[in-house]
This record gives sequence, C-alpha cells and structure tokens, in this order.
Amino acid sequence: MVFSVADYDDHEAIVFHQDKKSGLKAIIGIHNTNLGPALGGCRMWPYATEQEAVTDVIRLSRGMTYKAAITGLNLGGGKAVIIGNPRSDKSPELFRAMGRFVDQQGGRYISAEDVGTTVEDLDTMREQTPYARGTSKGMGNPSPLTALGVFQGIRAAVKHKFSQGDMKGIRVAVQGLGNVGGALAELLAKDGAVLTVADIDSARTKKFQSAYGADITSTEHIITADVDVFAPCALGASINDHSIHKIRASVVAGAANNQLAAPKHGLELWRRDILYAPDYAINAGGLVAVAAEGPEVDENTVTDKVNGIYDTMTEIFSRSKREEKAPEIIANQMAEERFRGKISIAA
Ligand code: NAD
Repeated sequence: MVFSVADYDDHEAIVFHQDKKSGLKAIIGIHNTNLGPALGGCRMWPYATEQEAVTDVIRLSRGMTYKAAITGLNLGGGKAVIIGNPRSDKSPELFRAMGRFVDQQGGRYISAEDVGTTVEDLDTMREQTPYARGTSKGMGNPSPLTALGVFQGIRAAVKHKFSQGDMKGIRVAVQGLGNVGGALAELLAKDGAVLTVADIDSARTKKFQSAYGADITSTEHIITADVDVFAPCALGASINDHSIHKIRASVVAGAANNQLAAPKHGLELWRRDILYAPDYAINAGGLVAVAAEGPEVDENTVTDKVNGIYDTMTEIFSRSKREEKAPEIIANQMAEERFRGKISIAA
C-alpha cells in the first residue's frame, strides 16, 4: 500500500490526516531532510483512489529532494496532496485545517503552491503556520524566475552543442506560451533567437507573431518543427513513444515537469545524439524564489542563484560527455552525491 509503491525510496515520513469538520483528507510526504527542511508544494487533485494520492505524494516528494539538491539549495524534498476537487471542494476552513496539519510537522515540511492551489490558499494556511511559502506577502508569482532559469539552461545547452555563446539565429520551438513559456519566449527573442510557437490559445501565439515575428505552428506539429531547440513548456510527457522519433531539434530543453513519458525516452534521446536538459534541474528557478522567501530577501541574490542554473547545466552536460552517460543519469548522480553525502553549501 505504501512501502510497495514503485517510487518509495526510504522516505522519512508519509503522514496521513483527516479533518472531518472541514472535509480535509491530506497526505504529507517527507522524502529526505539531510540538507534541510523538506520544501515542496501542496497539490489539490480529485484523485480517483486514495492509492493514487499516496503514489503521487511519494513520487513528487522524492522529486523535490533531487531538485533542491541539484540546484545547490540547503533543503530537503517534500510534498503534500489534498484529496479533493479544487473547483468545488475548497473552503477557508479546509486550508486552515491544512495549515494546522503542516504546522504539526514542526518545520520539517514547508508548503507552497502546486497544481490546484493558489496564493490565496497559502495565505489561509499561513494563518495557522509559519511554514507556508508563496503567500501574497512573499515573492509572488515565481514563473518569471522559472523562465529565467530555463533561458540560462537553454544558453548552456546551445553553448555545449553548437559552441555559440548567445541565441542569435538559433531556432527555438516553444510549446506553450503560458506563465513560463511566454516569459521564456520573450527572453529568447530579445537574445536573437528565431521563434516557432504553438499554444491552444491562439491569442498567445498571435502576440508573439506580431511582437517578435514568431512563426506559428499547430500544437500537433510543434514537436516536429525544423529547429535547433525544442522547448516543452506546456504539459508533461511530451516526449513519448509517438513523438520521440519525429523530433528534429538537436536540443530538448524547456520548463515542463516530467517531459519524458518514461526513463527509456531519455536514453533514446541520448542514443539519437539529442541533448536533453533534465527538467527538474532546468526548471528550478521558481523553487529558488520560494526558498529565498523571508523578511530579508535580497532579490539580486535570488537572481544570481537562478542565473547559476547555467553553471549547473554546463556541469551536467560536461560530465555526461565525459562519462558517456545520458544527462538525466548524471543529474541524478550529482543530486545524490549532495543529499546522500550531506554536502551543505554556505548560504
Ligand atoms: P500555464 O498554465 O501558465 O501555461 C501552460 C500553457 O500551455 C498555456 O498557455 C496553455 O494554453 C498551453 N498548452 C496547453 N496544452 C498545450 C498543447 N498541447 N500545446 C501547446 N500549448 C499547450 O503553466 P506554466 O506555469 O507556464 O507552467 C508550464 C509548465 O512548466 C508546466 O509543466 C509546469 O508544471 C512547469 N513548471 C512551472 C513552474 C512555474 O514557476 N510556473 C515551475 C516549474 C515547472
């Protein structure tokens, strides 16, 4: 039920909680706190079964350990899930109860937004616990910093693959022009990239056509575009059995979480000499922002840290070439060296 879930990996704690008065049913997963308290968002989702929610919290909390470690943050990995429909089951009382549940962990777990939760929900949780980030009094929307980190990661990939220091003339296909993809496309265009874009919302693609001369293509064809870089910034699993053989780009680097439908797709990209930027390493800019939140936050330090994603990605690509292993395998190794070796980084 818990210990036999595929991604269960010596998690420090999986804590269940029910508050009948508000209807809250939630689980907090704390994977590893070797490097610091476990920070990760609180997801609200209408899971079909409780087992699905358990599997999700186990998988997501483990992922956060790797993300914090590869980014050089002194944080562990955790995540929370609320079983419920974010459209119909929300109430202030439910999020107050969730805030109390987070508080009971005594600071080992720090919460933030995720799919299905908003700044307002975190504000309500914050009434009950100091261990809630991403509130309206905090860093605000992390997407521009996520986009900056992805931009730096793409620059590192372009340098590694084409030995070019800027984006001038580099053809990039951006899949999804939402909070992150839109900000990323702007950074790329301003650095001289030639854009091809797709989004289910045609107002977004038209904006980039008129502002930056972007080519518009369909959501079906964006992955097959004749470009140098494919940047998935919409939903997960865009690299799958159906799409992988159609990719013409030499680099896959974007913001979306879980871009590879399965680990075998990373190995297939590697075999085809397509450079893949591990998603959890390139899209960590938002986590850097949330991690820095506090009364004495210095925005320049946060930006510098996000810019550091360039160096992290460069190290991943260089080791990948040297050790002849796919970049996501190297990224996992680098993260494990940090959190299993408890290598703290001076703040
Ligand atoms: P968003 O909802 O603002 O944007 C997603 C965009 O993709 C929307 O414009 C949507 O219309 C478009 N879209 C949906 N399906 C599409 C399709 N099939 N083809 C093309 N476009 C499609 O979300 P976001 O906050 O920009 O996040 C984008 C991705 O990055 C997600 O996978 C998210 O998990 C990941 N991510 C986001 C952050 C962050 O700070 N927001 C941090 C880390 C990872």
